[in-house]
Amino acid sequence: MKDRKLLMIPGPIEFTPEVLQAMGLPTTSHLAANFAEVFGQALERLREVFLAPGGCPFVVAGSGTLAMEIAAANLIEPGDRALVVNTGFFSDRYVAILERHGAEVTVVAPPVVGDVPSLEAVEEALKKGPYKLMTITHVDTSTGVIADVRNLAYLGQKYETLVIVDGVCSVGGEELRMEEWGVDLTLTASQKALGVPPGLAIVVAGERAMEAFRKRKTPVRTYYADWTNWLPVMESYLARKPIYFGTPPVNLIWALNVSLGQILAEGLEARWARHRHLSDAFKAGLEAIGLKLVPVSREKAAHTLTTVYYPEGIDARLLGLILEAGIIVASGRHPALGERYFRVGHMGAVTASDILSTLGAIEWALARSGYRFDVGAGLAAAERVLTA
Ligand code: PMP
Repeated sequence: MKDRKLLMIPGPIEFTPEVLQAMGLPTTSHLAANFAEVFGQALERLREVFLAPGGCPFVVAGSGTLAMEIAAANLIEPGDRALVVNTGFFSDRYVAILERHGAEVTVVAPPVVGDVPSLEAVEEALKKGPYKLMTITHVDTSTGVIADVRNLAYLGQKYETLVIVDGVCSVGGEELRMEEWGVDLTLTASQKALGVPPGLAIVVAGERAMEAFRKRKTPVRTYYADWTNWLPVMESYLARKPIYFGTPPVNLIWALNVSLGQILAEGLEARWARHRHLSDAFKAGLEAIGLKLVPVSREKAAHTLTTVYYPEGIDARLLGLILEAGIIVASGRHPALGERYFRVGHMGAVTASDILSTLGAIEWALARSGYRFDVGAGLAAAERVLTA
């Protein structure tokens, strides 16, 4: 028997063999010419993947939460006002981070969990500004909801508010056009749709964000996150003349450069379309066997993961059976929804056969749990979408 499980959680994900090989290369000096070339190229490729040719990329050892904090620490001064467009647990986390840095935070919440605040509600809130910045969680991994970044960013620009996008569960999987849409800062982490093992906090800041940083009257209150320390380092790697501030995670950055190369070789449009297609197939499969998605409509559902309620009479023990069938999926992560739902990630190098294997395992586990349904109907519905 093969003792291999398929990792289908919303990060970390399954990585390509080339990315994993880069993790295993003999580590070199962080100041070596060959590493400077790789780091510099990775920073250039980030601008391409974020569609921010004029952006300032920052790559720092840490997780997505550090990337969130880097944005807050460098842009917020005590007493600044911030607006959070709330779509779930990770938007709540942004409230806590912004408040820790001294911001006065206003939250626009949706009518129910699984929904997105309306553009009208966000505009109403912006009218009561001015706000220094607004945050949008592009895909909230707790609810599986996707926010309309394009139109929200338009509103941010209209009210002269910096637009910060938490793209941890979206960059590299969902359509996001940073400069064209007027996003001032996008942040992410390595372990999701960017396809690199956990450990990198990644931020791309646009001109308006950098200008706001330069105009600060008070010093950044965390030493490690301070762009005063990191900006010269990133600029020096871009110029292939490395300097030191904190030791960069050499192997992770090699792996990042490999993955960014793979993303650009696939093409952003093709990659977004692949994520949409596989997500549509998976969601159609679950709905065909009577399961209900957490997002209130398909338009508000992300394509990098699926969040779905257990059907009547079934609980979290289902995940143990899905695991027995060889697939690792994730439990819920939103306090208001508790253990009523589970989450399946499908991003990065995910394939149609991963989607079908996962659906098959879910059907098998449901049948074993006594849920009554037309076994195979989910797989058939998914196949119809995949072959359409
Ligand atoms: N934002 C979002 C949307 C996320 O999904 C996550 C992680 N699941 C984070 C922020 C925090 O990232 P990390 O766990 O890497 O700190």
